[in-house]
Amino acid sequence: MKKKIAIIGSTGSIGKTTVEIIKKDKKSFDVILLTANNNFREINKQINYLKPKNLVINNKKIYLELKKKYKKINIFNNFDSFFKKFKKKIDYTISAISGLSGLQPTLDIIKHTKNIAIANKESIICAWNLIQKELKKNKTKFIPVDSEHFSIWYLLKNKKIQTVEEIVITASGGPFLNWKINNIKKATPKFAIKHPNWSMGKKISVDSATMMNKVFELIEAQRIFNLDRSKFKILIHPQSLVHAIIKFDNGLTKLLIHDTNMKIPIFNSIYDNSLKKIASKKIGTKELNNLIFKKIDLNKFPATNILKYLPRNISLFETVIVSCNDELVDLFLKKKITFWSINVILKKILNLKEFSKYKQITPNNIRQIYKLSEYVRLKTKTLSIRSAT
Ligand code: NDP
Ligand code: MG
Repeated sequence: MKKKIAIIGSTGSIGKTTVEIIKKDKKSFDVILLTANNNFREINKQINYLKPKNLVINNKKIYLELKKKYKKINIFNNFDSFFKKFKKKIDYTISAISGLSGLQPTLDIIKHTKNIAIANKESIICAWNLIQKELKKNKTKFIPVDSEHFSIWYLLKNKKIQTVEEIVITASGGPFLNWKINNIKKATPKFAIKHPNWSMGKKISVDSATMMNKVFELIEAQRIFNLDRSKFKILIHPQSLVHAIIKFDNGLTKLLIHDTNMKIPIFNSIYDNSLKKIASKKIGTKELNNLIFKKIDLNKFPATNILKYLPRNISLFETVIVSCNDELVDLFLKKKITFWSINVILKKILNLKEFSKYKQITPNNIRQIYKLSEYVRLKTKTLSIRSAT
């Protein structure tokens, strides 16, 4: 029987990689849902190859154009109207919208899917308790697809979490690893989004350049695996071949290597335990003889100091961090602030008294998260514009 699949954020970097995988095995899939925002060209291509049953298109103009063009597909302008009509069960969903816009659809689709692979890290960081509640209620199986988390998840199969002594999350170091600090300070978006190893969306590429991405990944890992922060270590590993290392209390250490391509975790999240094969680069002696691991230079990457501000429990403060950083990255990509200002303003906002109370508040519902996020973004924007003038 065909596997019913949904790709939320199909026109993004993770979405397109997922489409590439299922395109090679079209006869095994029934594409129930694709979603997009602005990318008209890409969604058109995907409609032609994959013949999806439903589309959710956020951008009104594109939604109207597609509605005129494709009469046989159910096309919706927002997730609410889709979920009002949709009552079926999907076998596998990948959640790959960027930012907090991905949270509501992720929570909603959990009710309709047997398995959910979540790439959208903002949802996990800001609302893991809400996601977990839905997963339990609907008996939906969760698979992390951020490469480090996929590796940890894979290495922990058939292992008890109490046997873990330490988990190393690796970081490529991003495009500025070998740059002098004075040049990093003046770096332009063009260089910040040019990742040496990974091909990713712009937002996450900038997070990789500031190393905020690792701060987010550490919170993500803490939540998913329910382990204390003291169990985790971040190491720079410029080759991005080893994605996670776990030391167990029986003296054994396991690590997971795969070539630097998100298609590997995504493929395995779709075809876990099946006989399907994927072409991948051979990792030979040349690569293995060049594996380097080192500590983060905190002067060059001060964003990683943010780990100190973090509460150990799940709280609304994570929404403050994610939203402030999101706004700053947006402003940087629009050339309204410098690369270095991301670090400086982030620290300023996180030190504001009005936000510290959120460290003690557990998110109760999604409205609370969205409302706070909007406020933090506004505050960040105002403060950034004031600092720039
Ligand atoms: P991209 O920016 O490449 O893609 C984002 C996707 O979300 C696109 O399909 C975009 O539509 C859609 N989208 C954006 N805003 C909205 C909105 N308001 N409503 C509906 N759809 C929207 O991001 P990535 O693929 O790089 O990342 C996706 C998520 O996965 C992020 O949370 C990221 O942190 C995480 N992740 C990404 C990795 C990577 O390698 N790229 C690795 C690990 C995690 P459109 O293009 O049509 O405008
Ligand atoms: Mg990652």
